[in-house]
Amino acid sequence: MSLLTVGSVAFDAIETPFGKTDKIIGGAGTYIAIAASFFEKNQNIVAVVGDDFPQSMLDLLSSRNVNLDGLQIKQGEKSFFWSGRYHNDMNSRDTLVTELNVLEHFDPIIPDSYQGVEYLMLGNLTPQVQSTVIDRLNERPKLVAMDTMNFWMDIAMDDLKATLKKIDLLIINDEEARQLSGENSLAKASKVIREMGPKYLIIKKGEHGALLFHGNEVFCAPGLPLEEVFDPTGAGDTFAGGFMGYLSSTGDISFENMKRAVIAGSALASFCVEKFGTEKLVQINNEDLDRRIQEFVALADFQMTYQL
Ligand code: AMP
Repeated sequence: MSLLTVGSVAFDAIETPFGKTDKIIGGAGTYIAIAASFFEKNQNIVAVVGDDFPQSMLDLLSSRNVNLDGLQIKQGEKSFFWSGRYHNDMNSRDTLVTELNVLEHFDPIIPDSYQGVEYLMLGNLTPQVQSTVIDRLNERPKLVAMDTMNFWMDIAMDDLKATLKKIDLLIINDEEARQLSGENSLAKASKVIREMGPKYLIIKKGEHGALLFHGNEVFCAPGLPLEEVFDPTGAGDTFAGGFMGYLSSTGDISFENMKRAVIAGSALASFCVEKFGTEKLVQINNEDLDRRIQEFVALADFQMTYQL
């Protein structure tokens, strides 16, 4: 099968209670593509960087079977830059800097070679750009998934609502689900959001796992209790990449298979937080991932016996 990812490929600077980085490689598209590459060997990316972006990182993506025909390099311009500082609980963070740079006038051009792609993952970008990508695909993919954030709810709610009508799956966190729906209960929020368009909804709950909703079905994936969470940046994108990579590589969008995809995404996200940026993700191999997936399986496995 084939997966198209659209998302930021960027520089980040991160501060956590454990340390601080200078400019390192980040971006939602970067995390999604690296995570998906563990499963999907036929990936495409649509993104934009400046001429300051290191070739070595582009080579790394290529070596992971990510086709870069749709990655625009703008000469004389700077890549997107984001900086954030985490609070002591490592769940909440403040954005310190957002320099849009090349993202400000991003026109997502889809190379002809990408047409016919079966799975689409729209990383966190303006809802307008996300919508344009859907419109520019000649054939509708088998599954269109997207991420978004509070920022777009604050400044572009109408565009966001219009884009939600065009997608199949929304992947957001609990705080975003509450803001989007105006409901505190996640069960109620899941109904309100699915009435806005997407048939499927994933609500990520940070260290507490993730919920998958479709029709009357709900699946709850556990969060792996990790001794050390070093840097949560990109965990949500890594989850989305692992989820979509798994789905697209198996070519099966049944609810049962989506449950497995949630575990695949959760396992990859659990690695992401163990080091700064993409550092851990690019270190691990298939055996490490296999072991981690089995830990998730064991975590949620129990047999119930009782007498009433
Ligand atoms: P997450 O921790 O999953 O929310 O994702 C963090 C990544 O999203 C970072 O690597 C940033 O470069 C990227 N990012 C942050 N804000 C934006 C934005 N407004 N548009 C696109 N990407 C962003």
